Amino acid sequence: VIDRQSHKRNDTGYLQDLLSVQEARFLVLAGHRAVIDSDPERTKASIRWLTAKDLAAMPSQCSPPLFLGIDEKTGTGRFTVQIDTSPASKDAARSSTFRPAVDIRSLASQGIMTDDDLSQIATAKALFHWHNTHVYCTRCAGPMQMADGGWKRKCRTCEAEVFPRLDPVVVVLITDKTNCLLARGAAFPEGLYSTISGFVEPGETVSGAVRRETLEETGIELDEVAFVTSQAWPHPHSIMLGCLAKARTTQITLDPNEIEAARWFPRDEVRRMQDNTHAEGLTAPGREAIASTLLCHWLESTASEC
Ligand SMILES: [Zn+2]
Repeated sequence: VIDRQSHKRNDTGYLQDLLSVQEARFLVLAGHRAVIDSDPERTKASIRWLTAKDLAAMPSQCSPPLFLGIDEKTGTGRFTVQIDTSPASKDAARSSTFRPAVDIRSLASQGIMTDDDLSQIATAKALFHWHNTHVYCTRCAGPMQMADGGWKRKCRTCEAEVFPRLDPVVVVLITDKTNCLLARGAAFPEGLYSTISGFVEPGETVSGAVRRETLEETGIELDEVAFVTSQAWPHPHSIMLGCLAKARTTQITLDPNEIEAARWFPRDEVRRMQDNTHAEGLTAPGREAIASTLLCHWLESTASEC
């Protein structure tokens, strides 16, 4: 487990001390894919924590290190770097030191990595995306430079400071007695039905966003809304806020711009969708998605609780 040490990120000497010892370790992203170790059967995977010596093999293609925190047990520094996988750097990225490199979505869907390791990869992926897309100042167009171990960017010209952005998304499972509401967008894989979701807008509460998105997309009005769980979703920088809500109305009126179809499903049908045994070939989201967590939560509850 890694302690983020957020109160120490602006202490340059502290970070340099952690970096300068041979115990420092680095999570490497080859492009957006994490360099991992796994057993031959690919049933278990973990981050391959590399040393500074490993990285020295290709210093010119390495980004500056970003600070992830310290190992809670040993107190040693944990950092992340990104290596260039553009065509010009392809040979370096092919080095066995940096393979295999796997996308976090695959690792999460396969269920072969611990949540702690997935969290570090999610952090690294979101941070690098932020740095790579915030090269210039949005106030004066001056060049920005990295600060605070990668957790801040500062304009060299006007000194404006910006911090990593996070987009909150509500994901809600709506229930009515023994049924739940699932919908599919036009871009979904064939047969897939999922929960209602949408971005939280400025000035909105989480429950306000849940009510608005549900009404806009399906015409359903809600009674109480309860927050259940959350999930980092670094594609590229969201936080998924998982909620349960009870329907006040059940008549579905679709917004065709957002939703292709929506239906009420009983528990046994949802279980068959999860098991890929549904008579119509319908499916539910995989276990890497927070929608799956919400569905499992509902399936395990008794009918009287819903
Ligand atoms: Zn500026």
